[in-house]
Amino acid sequence: MKRLWKLQELDLAIGVLEDKIENNPLRQEAGTAEECLARAEEALNRAEQSLKEQRKKLKRGELDLEAITTEYKELHQRLYSGEVKNIKELEQMEIRLRSVKQNQLTLEEKLLGLMEAIEEQEELAHGLTGQRDKAAAERQERQRQLDEELARLRNELDQLQEQRELLAARIEPKQMQLYRDLARRHQGRGLARVINDICQGCSVFISSAQRGFLYDPEALVYCENCGRLLVRFTEEETRTDWVE
Ligand SMILES: [Zn+2]
Repeated sequence: MKRLWKLQELDLAIGVLEDKIENNPLRQEAGTAEECLARAEEALNRAEQSLKEQRKKLKRGELDLEAITTEYKELHQRLYSGEVKNIKELEQMEIRLRSVKQNQLTLEEKLLGLMEAIEEQEELAHGLTGQRDKAAAERQERQRQLDEELARLRNELDQLQEQRELLAARIEPKQMQLYRDLARRHQGRGLARVINDICQGCSVFISSAQRGFLYDPEALVYCENCGRLLVRFTEEETRTDWVE
């Protein structure tokens, strides 16, 4: 009976450990850190993408400005070269020159604004890179803590399972079946210790008739109140964490 009790203790401890592995709070923290990193990476990617587009726009604008500047120079040269004598044609050229100059100024202003925007965007991307790196370091640390904790718990679990196997090998199949039936009926706690004539499963005094049976190691004595199989422990045995 005491072996069955020990088996129950081991099974309960294994259950607690499995739950700790399955529902470890560090899993939640690692998951949160992972999400933070994903968000930081997304924000950085967006900023970099937009920066790339702005730079492309600037490049195109610079080419346009070059073309306009060349056009302006050529027009200006022709207008004052004396080649064109026709007054009407000269007037047309002057209008055209003013218009080109205006386009040039407008474009220059636009490009200046774009350069400022790019500078701002670069600063933003720089800040986001810092945030991403921080989030990555945080995630790595959380993952490391989780891995460490899980390795520790799994090691503990392995040890308990090994103990359980050794113990189970020393229990007769008939008793194992009894243990399983009782465990199923009482949510894993089919056996209860009796300490000072009290059933530790339901905290009720056991009857004097049952008390006598408990001294017979072969007898199966059940608590009349909760139905658990009773195992008698002396006070000393409970203090010393009995192991056979
Ligand atoms: Zn009981």
